[in-house]
Amino acid sequence: MEGLGSLLFFAILFFVMMRWGCGAHMMHGHGGHKKEKYIDPVCDMEVDADKGYGMTHQGQSYRFCTRSCLGKFDADPERYLNKEKGAEHGM
Ligand SMILES: [Zn+2]
Repeated sequence: MEGLGSLLFFAILFFVMMRWGCGAHMMHGHGGHKKEKYIDPVCDMEVDADKGYGMTHQGQSYRFCTRSCLGKFDADPERYLNKEKGAEHGM
């Protein structure tokens, strides 16, 4: 019975340490694991790397906030890419 008790104690201690360590790490946000953000070329919204919808176009990966943005881009990628390159809004 004593063995089980200390095992449980260590399990809880371990659990608390894991939670604590992980939380502190995320709060400080240091280290090499930087969260990447993409700009949705259709609506210019920021999209987290683990959110939205992604696709690759000409070796370049893009992310979209919604499926409809992805659909628009897929239908006419040049239009949105040219826009992003800073082409003049003259015409
Ligand atoms: Zn969008």
